[in-house]
Amino acid sequence: MDVVQVSELCKKYKNKYRTKIALDNISFSVKKGEILGIIGPSGVGKTTLLKILTGQLLPDSGQFDILGGKISQKTYENLGIMMSDGLYETLSIKYNLQLFAEIFNINSKRVDQLLKITDLYELRNKKVTKLSSGEKQRLLLCRTLLHQPQLLLLDEPTSRLDPKNTVAIHELLSKLKREGKTIILTTHDMLEAEQICDRVIFLHQGRVIEIGRPYELKLKY
Ligand code: ADP
Ligand code: ADP
Repeated sequence: MDVVQVSELCKKYKNKYRTKIALDNISFSVKKGEILGIIGPSGVGKTTLLKILTGQLLPDSGQFDILGGKISQKTYENLGIMMSDGLYETLSIKYNLQLFAEIFNINSKRVDQLLKITDLYELRNKKVTKLSSGEKQRLLLCRTLLHQPQLLLLDEPTSRLDPKNTVAIHELLSKLKREGKTIILTTHDMLEAEQICDRVIFLHQGRVIEIGRPYELKLKY
């Protein structure tokens, strides 16, 4: 079953002086339980693609289905989104999660359970301003997982992390995959893609230039 199906997406950014083609005719699909990596250096369109899939940005043309249909209010019940920002800096780890837990009507047991899984429980009363980048990243992931979404869309989940924290996040993502969750993540790190992704899409100037299993593609690069 395809959890995500993307067909001929195009997106341009325009201002007074220039038009930038961010996505140029992107098509792909993702199956349940798959980890798909969207890979490429800075500026190739990775974030734009994720923002369209999360409904934060509208494409100029093309279509996509997500979790069995067009994006709607209902979609968000099963969608976990992790972007690099959006934490409340002056609030504690625990309160950042509680705010979201209340929106989704999730009890505090689930919050505590996730804090333990991500090794943040002992730090739960610490303010976000006092956290290391590894801790912030784990908190962002925690928040993404609160409502037990079926599909995760993660923008560079391990950027700026040291090797130890990177491995911790990789293990958590692999565990989620084994539970049947579907994951789309962006990265600029081919090694990371090889370690955890079932398939990768290489973007270059807004186009898909390669799509396949990481070890197959590696032979060519
Ligand atoms: P990536 O996530 O791979 O770094 P982005 O999707 O952020 O790529 O950006 C793709 C291209 O679109 C880049 O050239 C970027 O400069 C441009 N871009 C992104 N957002 C905007 C915007 N709001 N206005 C104009 N250009 C943008
Ligand atoms: P991690 O391995 O999670 O990235 P670090 O080794 O960077 O953690 O940080 C270790 C400890 O130092 C953490 O408990 C973190 O809260 C604290 N710390 C890191 N950076 C800062 C900072 N800029 N201000 C305050 N505390 C910090």
